[in-house]
Amino acid sequence: MKIAILPGDGIGTEIMAEAVKVLNALELRFETETALVGGAAYDAHGHPLPESTLALARSADAILFGAVGDWKYDKLDRPLRPEQAILGLRKHLGLFANFRPAICYEQLTHASSLKPALVAGLDILIIRELTGDIYFGQPRGRRTAVDGHFPGTEEAFDTMRYSKPEVERIAHVAFQAARKRAAGSGRSNARGKVTSVDKANVLETFQFWKDVVTEVHASYPDVQLEHMYVDNAAMQLVKAPKAFDVVVTGNMFGDILSDEAAMLTGSIGMLPSASLDKNNKGLYEPSHGSAPDIAGKGVANPLATILSAAMMLRFSLDQPEAADRVESAVKAVLSAGLRTGDIWSEGTRLVGTREMGDAVVAAITGKTITKS
Ligand code: NAD
Repeated sequence: MKIAILPGDGIGTEIMAEAVKVLNALELRFETETALVGGAAYDAHGHPLPESTLALARSADAILFGAVGDWKYDKLDRPLRPEQAILGLRKHLGLFANFRPAICYEQLTHASSLKPALVAGLDILIIRELTGDIYFGQPRGRRTAVDGHFPGTEEAFDTMRYSKPEVERIAHVAFQAARKRAAGSGRSNARGKVTSVDKANVLETFQFWKDVVTEVHASYPDVQLEHMYVDNAAMQLVKAPKAFDVVVTGNMFGDILSDEAAMLTGSIGMLPSASLDKNNKGLYEPSHGSAPDIAGKGVANPLATILSAAMMLRFSLDQPEAADRVESAVKAVLSAGLRTGDIWSEGTRLVGTREMGDAVVAAITGKTITKS
């Protein structure tokens, strides 16, 4: 197994060093190779996604990505800006399935804007289709209306569309993810259930989506399927989020619902994500950016990147036990009261990036973590 390590810019290098340390502590058999990406790659090679980095990403079994960007690159032409590296990797590698877990650790319930009882122990997974829907559908543009309410006036239009293979492949991903979660240990919300979110009552595209998801479900009798309209899903996410397990939806609804779900957990420094291709090869990254305001200070929270590495073990490298070990170690460290600045509260022990990474390694290797 080969893992491409792309630390990127800002806190990217600091948080990645901790994630690599955690991976090494697991003593699995894999090879890593590191390459520049984002602003660092632009500085060295004149492009945020050099051919050599793309070639490494293509040849690896999985990609662990830190973060890219810095204000100093804001004046560059758009194709040369650091953030283009992520879009380039998604496009070139066909990463169509975006996984955004929303996990609220018991120890961090105060950080959520919802009542602790609603979010304590929350562990759900939003799967968003990433390369289709109204965001990419053609035709789109502006024109003079020939019909509608105001013919002869200027109008704009986009096209919502999904092909059968596009819906089939994301549905398979969702059912398989629900199955894997149910088989793993200790996930409080994992009950082998997929909620497919649509707007079938109004949109032809999403009646089609619902029909295709139902068809694919026939191959997964062990997984329960429920359908929910997107407006109701938005409401249920803040009313009873723990009633969900895996949520699968299209690009636009997923864009909105995954951010809503992320905020249930309170802290961006804790949120991992993954974008997968049809063979479950993926790019794994924290949901946050390169945080130039705290870069180089050794204070960034490395847990989102460490949890992204756990997702990589589970989804791309078929190492669910190792993923469980990493996630349990993170919980143990939080239970011991260790906190980086973004999640610190009265009565807990403030630690830096490296100390947090060391504590996760200690929890994995069975060493004692010093309590606050
Ligand atoms: P950001 O996520 O980098 O930072 C937002 C705030 O959260 C900052 O106050 C930062 O200090 C804090 N923060 C973020 N991650 C943290 C962590 N691990 N620990 C502690 N605090 C953390 O977003 P931004 O400031 O809007 O953007 C900064 C740069 O990152 C920009 O160049 C932006 O384009 C880029 N960006 C990159 C990605 C990516 O690489 N996937 C995603 C978003 C933004």
